[in-house]
Formats: sequence, structure tokens, C-alpha cells
Amino acid sequence: MGQVNCLYCGKRIPDDAAECTHCGAVSHFQKKGYRSGARKRFILLFIALVLICAFFVFWLPRVFPS
Ligand SMILES: [Zn+2]
Repeated sequence: MGQVNCLYCGKRIPDDAAECTHCGAVSHFQKKGYRSGARKRFILLFIALVLICAFFVFWLPRVFPS
């Protein structure tokens, strides 16, 4: 369990709190799991993109020799 700064009042709140204990604003850190999942997907997508680029860079010159 960590602590995060409330986006609205800036005070420290537990990262698993549904709402800020100081100002009552809904915590945006509740979706932590979703956000880290999205980041993981983004990294996988980025790696796939790099692999596809590497594939074209190394494979295409052999198919179409200049
Ligand atoms: Zn707050």
C-alpha cells in the first residue's frame, strides 16, 4: 500500500482509497491496475512495432536487391 497525492487538494491519501479523505474527490489512482495493464500492452505493441521494422529493414533488401 502506497500513498499518492490527491489531484485536487494535493494532500497525501492511500492509493487504494476510493475518494480523497481530505476533500472527498474521487481518486483517479483507483484504476492503477487498468493503467499498468494498458502500459504493459503499450510496451508489447512497441516491441512488436520495433520487430516489424527490424524485419523490414533486414528482410526487404534481400527480396528487392538494388
Ligand atoms: Zn483531496
